[in-house]
Amino acid sequence: MAATQSIVIVGAGVFGLTAALELRARGWGVTVIDPGPVPTPTAASTDISKVVRMDYGADKLWTELGSVSLTGWNVWNLVDWWPDKLFHDDGFLVLSREAMQPGGFEFESFQLLTARDEKLERLDSAAVALRFPGWAAEKYPDGYFNPRGGWAESGKVIAWLAQKARREGVQVFENCAFARLLEDGSRVIGAQAKDGRAFRADLTLLATGAWTPTLLPELSDVMWATGQPVLHFRVANPAEWQAPRFPVWAADIGRTGWYGFPALADGTLKVANHGSGRRVHPDDPREVSRDDEPRFRAFLRDTFPALADAPLISTRLCLYCDTFDGNFWLDHHPQRPGLFVAAGDSGHAFKFAPVLGAIIAEAVERKQVGRMKRFDWRERKTPGGEGARAR
Ligand SMILES: Cc1cc2nc3c(=O)[nH]c(=O)nc-3n(C[C@H](O)[C@H](O)[C@H](O)COP(=O)(O)OP(=O)(O)OC[C@H]3O[C@@H](n4cnc5c(N)ncnc54)[C@H](O)[C@@H]3O)c2cc1C
Repeated sequence: MAATQSIVIVGAGVFGLTAALELRARGWGVTVIDPGPVPTPTAASTDISKVVRMDYGADKLWTELGSVSLTGWNVWNLVDWWPDKLFHDDGFLVLSREAMQPGGFEFESFQLLTARDEKLERLDSAAVALRFPGWAAEKYPDGYFNPRGGWAESGKVIAWLAQKARREGVQVFENCAFARLLEDGSRVIGAQAKDGRAFRADLTLLATGAWTPTLLPELSDVMWATGQPVLHFRVANPAEWQAPRFPVWAADIGRTGWYGFPALADGTLKVANHGSGRRVHPDDPREVSRDDEPRFRAFLRDTFPALADAPLISTRLCLYCDTFDGNFWLDHHPQRPGLFVAAGDSGHAFKFAPVLGAIIAEAVERKQVGRMKRFDWRERKTPGGEGARAR
């Protein structure tokens, strides 16, 4: 019988924990280290909510992955793994400030999803005013509602994944920060923590999100940390700002980046922008910039007038690990045997949690079936420029 292979996974975000669970299920001996208490407060995966969608313009692979993931989230809801439903399949509202045009995110998503026989409802301003009264409907003459989609309580999902990993026999070390790789010649044989602890393993997997290009500087030309502001407002009557009248939404996102969530039971309403963001060092103070609040309020005043003066509860600077092409980076290091990198989320990976572990494990085990070439180790053809947004 083949000896059990061992792996040390650095980072307990959604990449690290889903990979840990899948590899454990495949018989690997798995150790995970992370400096946080898990869920780590500064991790991208740790938040109150993340959008789960299959709407990806004309991109067939992301759309397929989104569709399979949606089924996965519903299965997770169904099998009562969670004390509370952590995925809310309220649907996804995609509105455009002009008639949807070929080449645009909204139009191409509508086209591809309709061709896949998804039951979308096309909407004009009159329909928006009727169904989604919080919107300045007259400003959104076109768009659609996709009943398949919603949002996940990401921080709670991470806590649950960590618990489940432990139950399955994964060793999870918190308050344990990676310092450097352990090497034997050109072979990576494990990881050493800042407190001196050594974790030897057949494979070392870096799943360190926005910290990855800092921990492995040779990657800094193909991926980098980008700061994205998230603002939480308080609404007085949460029910008015919840599905079905206020589901997860995208407001002309192809051009503006604006998107957001229904209010939580305590009235917290999150707004964010999937835009270019700003380059940061992952250990810089996590502060949004001074012009973020006025910028967000100008958007609210324009699109959700009743929210324009809603009290601001909190702000968060959350980090993407942007790659130059917006695709994930899931591969063995071509020159350093024993090292694997699972990073490059580019601001859109959480939704794929139900399938991410298997995708990473297929690449770890060099299996061709589930392997996705676009996530392979690759070169950047054109220098300069910002990360592409896979939307
Ligand atoms: C503002 C914002 C909004 C987003 N919205 C969405 C959305 O709506 N839908 C969606 O699908 N995705 C969304 N995303 C993207 C999603 O959050 C990420 O794709 C995903 O969480 C990345 O997971 P990760 O495991 O790569 O990184 P992380 O969750 O950041 O995990 C990396 C881990 O590495 C650990 N680490 C760092 N340094 C060390 C070290 N030295 N030693 C050990 N461990 C270390 C950290 O503590 C952390 O726990 C959003 C991201 C942001 C920033």
